[in-house]
Amino acid sequence: MTAFAIDIGATKIAACRVGPDGMPSEPQTVPTPAVGVWQACVDLLDSVVGGDPVEAIGISTAGPLDGETAGPINIPEWAPGFGLGDAARERYPDARVEVVLDGACAALGEYAFGAGRGATDLLGMIVSSGVGGGIIRSGTVMGGRTGNAGHIGHIPVPDSADVCACGGIGCLEAVASGPSSVRWARANGWTGDTGIELARAAKSGDEIALAAMARAGTALGTAIAGAAALLDIDLVVIGGGFALSGGPLWDPLETALRRHAGLRYLRDLDVVPALLGSGASLAGGAALVGDGYRRWPI
Ligand SMILES: [Zn+2]
Repeated sequence: MTAFAIDIGATKIAACRVGPDGMPSEPQTVPTPAVGVWQACVDLLDSVVGGDPVEAIGISTAGPLDGETAGPINIPEWAPGFGLGDAARERYPDARVEVVLDGACAALGEYAFGAGRGATDLLGMIVSSGVGGGIIRSGTVMGGRTGNAGHIGHIPVPDSADVCACGGIGCLEAVASGPSSVRWARANGWTGDTGIELARAAKSGDEIALAAMARAGTALGTAIAGAAALLDIDLVVIGGGFALSGGPLWDPLETALRRHAGLRYLRDLDVVPALLGSGASLAGGAALVGDGYRRWPI
């Protein structure tokens, strides 16, 4: 079978061929244009396809979704709603098309090829410019009614009145993303600009940076404890640039998780770093059209 995967993000689009073993091959990437996003996807896919028949395409897209219509907040041209599934079927009429949220694809990528190999039920998370996620149960990506299951970034966390980009108040993302943590640190006297600088400052002992990391880590651990209690999972995998912040973020996360996760079935929950980096969601797109993985609902 000739299958392909594409990952459509706010800053770049990546596409690859799916190997016979279901693994993604080396991707090609282009920057996401301000206008003509779908044409850029088609041009990139055509370049990867190289004239072969297209039998299946696994599409990972920024969200939220409404079924197979993508309305990514961070891709303005598509924000009102772009009929991604229909557009893909029109362009590749003989292909099986799967459209799945990027957070869920990243979770599936780690489950199939990365830090989640061997797990049965997994929560994948991305902690970066936002906080995203996805839920995998026995090889099946949980989509939910509209395709948005796994949005852990919009679980409210205690003691926060921070306004979230989604319109809600006190969301995990509004506390624990890189930009949210930088904003909090700057409001408390820190003078840097980026999450990478904040992580570096925390590692070198800057007290405000350490407090910002502790605040983010505590919120993450608290949200994970709640999600794990609800889902009864065996593993949490965390990727994304801000998750590379090391002990200043991970130690408070672990402390908060253990404080809140009291039930016996939560005591051996493992939380580990992701392995696939920014390639996780493309790998998940590949897994969707390879063998052995499914999405639910179909
Ligand atoms: Zn929110």
